[in-house]
Amino acid sequence: VKCIGILTSGGDAPGMNAAIRAVTRAAIYNGLQVKGIYRGYRGLVTGEIKEFKSQNVSNIIQLGGTILKTARCQEFTTPEGRQIAYDNMKKEGIDALVIIGGDGSLTGARIFAQEFDVPCIGLPGTIDNDLYGTDTTIGYDTALNTILDAVDKIRDTATSHERLFFVEVMGRDAGFLALNGAIASGAEAAIIPEFSTEVDQLEEFIKNGFRKSKNSSIVIVAESELTGGAMHFAERVKNEYPQYDVRVTILGHLQRGGSPTAHDRILASRLGAAAIDAIMEGQRNVMIGIEHDEVVYVPFTKAIKNDKPIKKDLVNVLRELSI
Ligand code: ATP
Repeated sequence: VKCIGILTSGGDAPGMNAAIRAVTRAAIYNGLQVKGIYRGYRGLVTGEIKEFKSQNVSNIIQLGGTILKTARCQEFTTPEGRQIAYDNMKKEGIDALVIIGGDGSLTGARIFAQEFDVPCIGLPGTIDNDLYGTDTTIGYDTALNTILDAVDKIRDTATSHERLFFVEVMGRDAGFLALNGAIASGAEAAIIPEFSTEVDQLEEFIKNGFRKSKNSSIVIVAESELTGGAMHFAERVKNEYPQYDVRVTILGHLQRGGSPTAHDRILASRLGAAAIDAIMEGQRNVMIGIEHDEVVYVPFTKAIKNDKPIKKDLVNVLRELSI
């Protein structure tokens, strides 16, 4: 491998820039050439590619978003689109790829690597923390801290007005942000997709007598088809318990922004440097993760299995501490 291409794909996450910086600098340090590919897989298809030197990644470690931009690319999901991407790669002299993104992006990488025998290394970049084989993903810690800032503020008004707030956070099919956000903000409950089929989480929350000792309550709800979202629960409470003064706040895209935390910057830097080590070692088709503070290589098929478990003890902690 002489030249690597780097791209960010799917939903943006704080710390992606720190990862771009780390991959670029570690590659140059190891004598490799680096090319930045713009707008995810779309840039590979359209040929929006530019050589990166060390200076191209100066002063970005602290920035949210991604200087390479990100996009969703329909064309790359077709064999024809991937052929064009491969041809452009060859034209640019790129012989390995580092892909920073979520499960969709890594699925694309897995298929591409199989079809064209291109070494692809993935870095887990998503606020959702839903990739298997890494303790946390790049952007998750920052998003969690953003949620805390917001919920702390909502609590002030919830307490003053003695209201029940449903706060919706991101996390599509994974409840990590909602559950840990609830624990860290001292919320009364979290409604997460993992348990949507097991129990009626709202019923359980009401049954636990949330107003016994409290005048206000905050429930964090993961935005997901499986939970139905915060609005859905607010409507239910309004209908079934009209005595409660209910409000909804949807945090939305503000959760994706902001300067990455120290945790996310260090994680991104370690993972980025490890991606280049992996390429130098001849690894291919793996996601780099960190488990128990050690760098690990996780085969794509395992990373995207979509069954990263929620720790049961966290559910218990939330329940015990919200009495
Ligand atoms: P996030 O979880 O933050 O939304 P993601 O990486 O899962 O990020 P997706 O929109 O699912 O985001 O995927 C990003 C891009 O990856 C898609 O636009 C597409 O170009 C590519 N991709 C996803 N799935 C496939 C697939 N099955 N085959 C080929 N490419 C794919």
